[in-house]
Amino acid sequence: MATWRVGSATVHKVVEVEFPLPVAGALRTSDEGLLDRYPWLAPHYASPGGLFTMSFHALLVDTGDRRILIDTCIGNDRTHPIVPPLQTGWLDVLKDTGYPPETIDTVVCTHLHFDHVGWNTRLVDGAWVPTFPNARYLIPRAEWEFWRTGAESDGRAELADTVDPLLAADLVDFVEPGHRVADGITLEAAPGHTPGQVAVLIESAGPAGVERAVVTGDLVHHAVQFVAPEVGSPSDEDPAQATATRRAFVERYADTGTLVLGTHFPDPSAGYLTRADGELRFVVAQDG
Ligand SMILES: [Zn+2]
Repeated sequence: MATWRVGSATVHKVVEVEFPLPVAGALRTSDEGLLDRYPWLAPHYASPGGLFTMSFHALLVDTGDRRILIDTCIGNDRTHPIVPPLQTGWLDVLKDTGYPPETIDTVVCTHLHFDHVGWNTRLVDGAWVPTFPNARYLIPRAEWEFWRTGAESDGRAELADTVDPLLAADLVDFVEPGHRVADGITLEAAPGHTPGQVAVLIESAGPAGVERAVVTGDLVHHAVQFVAPEVGSPSDEDPAQATATRRAFVERYADTGTLVLGTHFPDPSAGYLTRADGELRFVVAQDG
């Protein structure tokens, strides 16, 4: 399992599943050679033939006194039109890492797509129950408003299983961008992929001073989108806004030493946005 230190905080990646995908189609492009134009993407983010690996994982932030889970993957026992039903040991992996579900105090949903809220609940004796019974679940208010009023085909059906049981148990706090999750952990607006999406900024003081990391949510699905921000995801609700958010993200974080943690990047899922000779790159960071 990948782990990073950010100041005095620790971030663990808890992988659920990985799929190889063709770039043409998985991103909003028909350009099968897109990844070849940026040789630094290989070998981690580009394979011959325009393939890349998409990872579905959660990020667990341990500040020492808080245990904050960012996004909860697809989940077991789900039926979804584009993903086969899963039966993975994701919850056991989380437990074996030292984080039994009852010890999680906060769950952050960057947005409400099915692959970010699946383990919010789990199926027990035929009923969907909260997986993290002692957590506050933070959901961006604009996100909830958008999906709650949407058509069934737009994702509302999944929320009946992944969010409604949390509401019934009174475990949800609807939050705004700028919300402070904990000391040094802040939600940042990242609209476009979905209207209420947030990124999560982690700032923590350690022996080397204050260090920063940011969790992207789905403002990018692939590192190539940092250098080709106009290439969106087919599931971006507002492509123009998503592009603007990617550009702003690069401007905010390039050359700042901020560790960027990708929600869908395979190993190594983190790196730094760095400019050299006028060219932007995503320079991967090994864990540790
Ligand atoms: Zn996603």
